[in-house]
Amino acid sequence: MEKMNTKRRIVLVPAPGQGHVTPMMQLGKLLDLKGFSITVVQGHFNQVSSSSQKFPGFQIVTIPESLQESEFERLGPIEFLLKLNKTSKASFKDCIGHLMVQHGNDIACIIYDEFMYFSEAAAKEFKLPSVVINTSSATNQACRTFLSKVNAEKFLANMEDPQAQDKVVENLHPLRYKELPVSDMGPVERVLDLCKDVVKERRAFAVIINTVSCLENSSLAWLDQELGIPVYPLGPLHITAPPPSSLREEDMSCIEWLNKQKPRSVIYISLGSVLSMKTKEVSEMALGLCDSNQPFLWVIRQGSEPLPEEVSKMVSEKGYIVKWAPQMEVLAHPAVGGFWSHCGWNSTLESVTEGVPMICRPFHGEQKLNAIYIESVWKIGIQIEGEVERGVVERAVKRLLVDEESASMRERALVLKEKVKASVRNGGSSYNALDEFVKYLEKVEL
Ligand code: UDP
Repeated sequence: MEKMNTKRRIVLVPAPGQGHVTPMMQLGKLLDLKGFSITVVQGHFNQVSSSSQKFPGFQIVTIPESLQESEFERLGPIEFLLKLNKTSKASFKDCIGHLMVQHGNDIACIIYDEFMYFSEAAAKEFKLPSVVINTSSATNQACRTFLSKVNAEKFLANMEDPQAQDKVVENLHPLRYKELPVSDMGPVERVLDLCKDVVKERRAFAVIINTVSCLENSSLAWLDQELGIPVYPLGPLHITAPPPSSLREEDMSCIEWLNKQKPRSVIYISLGSVLSMKTKEVSEMALGLCDSNQPFLWVIRQGSEPLPEEVSKMVSEKGYIVKWAPQMEVLAHPAVGGFWSHCGWNSTLESVTEGVPMICRPFHGEQKLNAIYIESVWKIGIQIEGEVERGVVERAVKRLLVDEESASMRERALVLKEKVKASVRNGGSSYNALDEFVKYLEKVEL
């Protein structure tokens, strides 16, 4: 009798946080469409299972000994990740052991978020190929690779030297040393420890990056050379793999509000899933937004500090506030003319894909890299540096939506949008990279 053609299974290991979970689940959808079965291994901190109805057919399992969300608050991201990778090795091995028994050894590979590098020990033990997914930009990945090789003492000494800090990093033009995503992420030594661990522990066969060649050609070329394993730029995953997955409930009423606004008049404001601003900054921002006389849609997440009463009243007269928006729909809405963003990579890609120019207010690390690309490389946005102050906010909104320069920014954003959309169509760079990746998965063996 002919052997039954069973689907090969892929195990996905996302890192905590909406910005990591979303692209991983979108990759899962893509691979599901390409004929693979999907298992997602979650920790206590990123309960993908809460939105499991969006992923029919996916198997979702939880590692019992992973850290709780409260540990993230207590330790901060760097220490949390360093500890998580130590504590999860054994239980992840057990988990893969069970899955191997359950699925009759038919696991094609483990795809893990670069920060979930504890996965390598299990891949090695069970002789499974592993693939890393990097959910931030290729440039951020290039920086991490670069930082994993620096000498911590020398690096720290250089940080004191303004001349050294102003130098462009070899092969990572236009980035300067002072812009490497390290100094504001935690104690420099610990950030470098994490970079070293991420790169050193990696035995992966390939790297997937949620980016597009036309956005980051030179960083991708550098990575290709530097990593010595195939690099697949498959992004933007949110358009190649519908539908998207949100861990939170989206307030759809804002779409009705947008329907009533003039074309390209609204500024949409969101700082992603983690960050919050200080009350004083929020007040200045609110006053500047009101002074600009442009309508605005503002995501103020549950748990953020409340606005002072008088500001809150003014804001609700001139703008619309939601706790969580259907961001991709918002950015695609014809009324939206600009996006005030913290420049997380997903938000950046989502804005680029819809041709929406941005006001960049990055907080730290890779967000600052993205802001440099938005403002200086793609030239589709402006960055607010220094204090957020009422007048500065008003001017920035006008520059983005009203002044003469807004037209050329928008034009460039629309050109980039077309390039990005072309990349996922038949024959485009991301489309071809996905095909190559699937072929690679079909033949890869240890
Ligand atoms: N997002 C959303 N609704 C909101 C705010 C954010 O759906 O009201 C989504 C957004 O579309 C993006 C993700 O949350 O996919 C945020 O990811 P990003 O990488 O931009 O920032 P992070 O949350 O990781 O800082």
